[in-house]
Amino acid sequence: MIESAKAMSARSTAKSAAARPASGTNDDPFRFAAEALSLAEAHGTPPEPDTFKVWYTYAAGSSLVLNERIESLMAGGAKPSVYDLSALNGEIIEADTNGDIARMQADEGLRKEMEEVQTFIRSYLQTTERYEGAIDNTTKSLSEASTAAEVETVIALMIRENQRVRAQTQQLSASLRETQEEIIRLQDKLSQSRRAEMQDPMTGLNNRRFFQHAIASALAHAETFRQPMSFAIADIDHFKSVNDRFGHQIGDEILKFVGTFINSKLKEHGTVSRYGGEEFAIILPNITIETARALLEDVKEGIAGARLVTSKTNKPIGTVTVSFGVSNWADGDDIDTLFERADQQLYEAKSAGRNLVR
Ligand code: GH3
Ligand code: MG
Ligand code: MG
Repeated sequence: MIESAKAMSARSTAKSAAARPASGTNDDPFRFAAEALSLAEAHGTPPEPDTFKVWYTYAAGSSLVLNERIESLMAGGAKPSVYDLSALNGEIIEADTNGDIARMQADEGLRKEMEEVQTFIRSYLQTTERYEGAIDNTTKSLSEASTAAEVETVIALMIRENQRVRAQTQQLSASLRETQEEIIRLQDKLSQSRRAEMQDPMTGLNNRRFFQHAIASALAHAETFRQPMSFAIADIDHFKSVNDRFGHQIGDEILKFVGTFINSKLKEHGTVSRYGGEEFAIILPNITIETARALLEDVKEGIAGARLVTSKTNKPIGTVTVSFGVSNWADGDDIDTLFERADQQLYEAKSAGRNLVR
């Protein structure tokens, strides 16, 4: 790849920035901001707030995951685009911040509720202890009572004690019920924030973070049970020119359509995640490569056969096609080898004319 000296120097500055500790007295926000600006310029990504935030975080080296992702994009010779950066912002920086805040709030709430449960249990135990004491006393008084009047007094005491305990336990169970409802609400909140962390906000599909977890467990499953497992990368054909012809907003709509179409056709068989800008990663557990290719042929035909029109003006968009590269699990595979073979197949599909499953 040919690139300007400026871009190369910006990149090497950022690499050394990545190695810098996240916090410390040497951190200079002005320097990070200047580096972020020159990175934005070198990569032709206008420093809109989100883009700038990603480059700034990269220059400051405060998110190891973010730096690794950008480094790996660049290592493949690609220039991170505004889409890559906005996806990274949503997926790593915002997901981390929003997720952290939501989790911290839910965790704090849960901690408080658990403290309350402990208080309730303590006072319940005290109540029952007192009640046991009262019963012991009444039993003793009853055995010592010699007149009807004495027996009557003891029974009256017992009834009063019973009423008191009953009122107390009723109040305790009401409070416990409230606490239980609050705990359920907080647990919901927690799992919602976990779910959001695994979701691509634009398409609503699983995101790359989800994919990393899913592929690791699919591989482990295939290996443990010696079962087939297929994997595919789907990449929209000539998407750049789709954007150029119809604008990025329509581009986004097409991307959503393609993603949800693939997902709706394959969700019974496996999982579909938005892996990158216009790329989707498909995991098909328990499915041989032949069946996988047949399934993907259907998906491919479905997309190519759709008559897309713009949502506002009903202008025909023409056909949008997708290429698929498929690989399947073989003994000794890891995520990288499985991915590499699918990527190679995708390359074949693109070179052979696109709109193909390879
Ligand atoms: P190919 O058939 O070889 O895949 O060609 P291509 O143009 O699709 O491939 P390339 O990788 O050169 O460009 C991908 C383009 O996808 C770059 C970018 O303009 C576009 N893109 C990526 N993510 C998004 C997105 O979220 N929205 C929109 N509108 N476009 C995106
Ligand atoms: Mg692509
Ligand atoms: Mg493409």
